[in-house]
Amino acid sequence: MIDWNQVETLLLDMDGTLLDLHFDSHFWLEHLPRRYAELHKLDLQSIRDPLIQSIMAEQGQLSWYSLDYWSERLQVDIVALKKEIQHLIGFRVDALDFLQWVKNAHPRVILATNADRKSLALKLELTGLDEYLDAIVSSADIGIPKEEQGYWQALQTLEPFNPATTLLIDDNETVLDSARRYGIAQLITITQPDSQSPQRQLTQYPAVTRFAELQPVTKEG
Ligand SMILES: [Mg+2]
Repeated sequence: MIDWNQVETLLLDMDGTLLDLHFDSHFWLEHLPRRYAELHKLDLQSIRDPLIQSIMAEQGQLSWYSLDYWSERLQVDIVALKKEIQHLIGFRVDALDFLQWVKNAHPRVILATNADRKSLALKLELTGLDEYLDAIVSSADIGIPKEEQGYWQALQTLEPFNPATTLLIDDNETVLDSARRYGIAQLITITQPDSQSPQRQLTQYPAVTRFAELQPVTKEG
């Protein structure tokens, strides 16, 4: 599926690609509404749907990814609430094996993420993911999400890459569309970003469930 000799730069998304999206889904759809209702002494049943709708309305924008934004807007400490369920933060299936293999297989590895610095601090500390990365470029640092061309332009300035020899793996197809418009040659998505949700059957991009599908088969013995 991938000719690794043609890959000089590997761009990796974090949530839903390397890390199990179950943590984020559970946080925003279950834990936050419950704790928000408790902290503000509101009825969960009546606030849950409107709260989730107001969160989803920001999808794809920088605010959607900003923990400071949601802390301010909802008047709760989002980082503290995330820490309450931090045991759910973890790698997706064989992501760690893949990172270890990639480290020996030579391409430069850049984490290209929409996660803000507070999300990153929590997740890097718990996973040790940064050990496998040559650079981390958060859209929060740039001020533009990956869904927009400006992110890739800024990434190009910060960590120069040749789009023709770059592979991006990202579970978000809107982000892959944006990367394709920028000219990134190789694009792969993920069938099951959230381990607790069903696999996605229809994707516009080549998709893998396990990263092992991207690695050359090695003969043993
Ligand atoms: Mg993602």
